[in-house]
Amino acid sequence: MLKKQYFLSLVLVLSSAHVAGHTLAAQQAASQASAAQGQPTREQKLRGEYGRYRANNDLLYYHLDIRVDPDKKFISGKNTIRFRMLQADTRIQLDLHSALSIDKILFGDTPLRFERDSGAVFVDFPQNLSAGQTYSIDFYYSGNPAESGRFGSIAFKKDPAGRNWINTACEELGASMWWPNKDQWRDEVASMEISVAVPSDLVDVSNGKFLGKKDLGDGYTRWDWLVQYPINNYDVSLNIGKYQHFSDHLGDLPLDFYALPEDLDKAKKQFEQAKTMLEAYQHYFGEYPFKKDGYKLIQVPYSGMEHQSAVTYGNHFANGYLERDWTGVGISPRFDFIIIHESGHEWFGNAVSAADRSDMWIHEGWTTYLESLYVEYRWGKEDGLKYTNGYKEKVKNQEPIIAQRGVNATPPQDQYFKGTLFLNTLRSVINDDKKWFALIHDLFQEFKYQNIMTEDIVAFFNQRTGTNLTPIFDQYLRHKDIPTLELKRDDAQHTISYRWLADEKAFAMPVGIAINGRSQRITPTTEWQKLVGATEKDEIPVATDLYYVNVVKD
Ligand SMILES: [Zn+2]
Repeated sequence: MLKKQYFLSLVLVLSSAHVAGHTLAAQQAASQASAAQGQPTREQKLRGEYGRYRANNDLLYYHLDIRVDPDKKFISGKNTIRFRMLQADTRIQLDLHSALSIDKILFGDTPLRFERDSGAVFVDFPQNLSAGQTYSIDFYYSGNPAESGRFGSIAFKKDPAGRNWINTACEELGASMWWPNKDQWRDEVASMEISVAVPSDLVDVSNGKFLGKKDLGDGYTRWDWLVQYPINNYDVSLNIGKYQHFSDHLGDLPLDFYALPEDLDKAKKQFEQAKTMLEAYQHYFGEYPFKKDGYKLIQVPYSGMEHQSAVTYGNHFANGYLERDWTGVGISPRFDFIIIHESGHEWFGNAVSAADRSDMWIHEGWTTYLESLYVEYRWGKEDGLKYTNGYKEKVKNQEPIIAQRGVNATPPQDQYFKGTLFLNTLRSVINDDKKWFALIHDLFQEFKYQNIMTEDIVAFFNQRTGTNLTPIFDQYLRHKDIPTLELKRDDAQHTISYRWLADEKAFAMPVGIAINGRSQRITPTTEWQKLVGATEKDEIPVATDLYYVNVVKD
């Protein structure tokens, strides 16, 4: 389902320097060298561009129907792909990692020809498909998927008791690592069925509502799941293991939890935090966005991932992040970072999604800010602020948060930490909590179930506040440096001169300072302005906990 049309050009909006932070393991040194000179490789373009054979169709529905053989580490089955043509054409682009074989692609009973080019699969139809018409193909595939990337993409593991434990987490390298789909961020199916046959002693937990299971009579049982909302490809997941299930509810929202038998008691205790988390985010943004599908937490061997309505959890059933104080200010040990962060993505990442990986701060910057909101909801504004400012140590300011578009780029880690510090700054710019909370609530409601870009968020804020906030967004997101407030005191003249040093010429952001112990807001621009009457040699403190800025005083 293509929810928004973009006419943004795919020109390189940024300097090439940021590509150094690229982490795609599949891209070799040669590709990186090429990319570092601002020339995306063919593979990057095939994966990242929204070219003619992607743009000519709009995804409607997938039915992924597969069998997983844990001992042979083998997947086989098909994905039924339903789409509507937007332009008449004879070819569409899908994606599947080259480690997997394409057994056949059927259009009704007709086998289709296809051409593979690295991870891309160009599917050719015998006749022109008409614009506006809906079509469906069955894409049959099989093989031993490549295990690579931070979490393996698909990992065939054993649990501590030696039983099979298979999980997917493929945001980094893409869903086409283990199943055929239109592997990009802009277009999502409106709904999806997931059917997974596994050895009958195991359970598969996937996304969406559990429909039922069927004993296939050959030692395998098929688990059927129904996703009733748009879903990102990388959110589609398998969790196959000797899971034990327990359930709860929050009002009429079903909560389902899955853990290994040995960890059941720990899970029952730790997963209680899901309720407060849901209450907090519902308070700020409105109802949990995937209510018909329910909310699930599933134990996995890696730290965790925001798989839609089926959040995965591997945080050792302990508070903090992998038993560390994540922002180092004593607040993180009060809650389970993975439950709070990964579930926050249900609002930002899964319901509101970026249309290009370049703008992934829409997922990570916002969700990191949701952590602070969770802290504020539970322990008050001061602790929320302290938690947010704890992130300053992690910020590098070496490359812009928004990466190159159209090349499946991975933005730098600053998208998380600087992203949340920027949103906290924006709240201070708005300078009215009631207004701020209404703005972020309405922003979520406006864009839920859509794939958007930063420009949509900026336009929303500008329109709602009647203020041109574009230079502020641009300075924090499209440049590597944060603004510097320059203050010059002239004791003879009893004045303080002030201005912003910023890359954005039109940068004009209010900031809180204190003169003679009296707090006030000034709005410096990139031109010098003067405050008259400042006579005392006080420190002129700047509210850097509310505004993420550098300060230089002469
Ligand atoms: Zn995240």
